[in-house]
Amino acid sequence: MHLLIMGAPGCGKGTCAVELKSFYGIPHISTGEIFRKAISEKTKTGLIAQRYIDQGFLVPDEVTNEIVKERLSEDDCQKGFLLDGFPRNLAQAKALTKILEDLDIKLDAAINLDVKDEIIEKRIVNRRICENCGRGYNLIYLKPKQEGICDVCGAKLYQRKDDTLETIDKRLVVYNTQTKPIITYYKELGILININANQEPHKVVEEIINKVK
Ligand SMILES: [Zn+2]
Repeated sequence: MHLLIMGAPGCGKGTCAVELKSFYGIPHISTGEIFRKAISEKTKTGLIAQRYIDQGFLVPDEVTNEIVKERLSEDDCQKGFLLDGFPRNLAQAKALTKILEDLDIKLDAAINLDVKDEIIEKRIVNRRICENCGRGYNLIYLKPKQEGICDVCGAKLYQRKDDTLETIDKRLVVYNTQTKPIITYYKELGILININANQEPHKVVEEIINKVK
């Protein structure tokens, strides 16, 4: 199963991705993770990306595309993957189509998690992350058993600096202008699956699995 998942910041993508990964037995490929790996392993594209990041610039599309292509060429992706955080704009979406053609892979579905702005705000300000294992929590929807402590590894939870009301609106504007055209793109390709992500995470996952069938 070759899937991609998209949605506004705070749509619950991370939580769903973990569930889908184990349900389908496919790797969860987030661009953040690919970048960190490429940089720590000092691959050619990793080193190029590092230069941009060090100077405080966004990594250009062609570098991102190359890193994604390298990752999708690896053996564990042949049976399937869940791509998360890529594409971020229409140019990247078109590049992905080309990458997949080159690799002879057919994308089965582009899953769009559709969520209302007020729910996004509520989710983001209540989001907490484990400083050790990276597991995500939410003070309303997905509370840790013990306040401020990770259920899995016992480390402290923290709030990301950009998870505040002030930055959410900015992030939503960026999302609406850059990422929304991708939804239309996949609709035209006939593989878009719209999911009501205003519900609880396990219901969202259930809806995805039913609709992907
Ligand atoms: Zn943890």
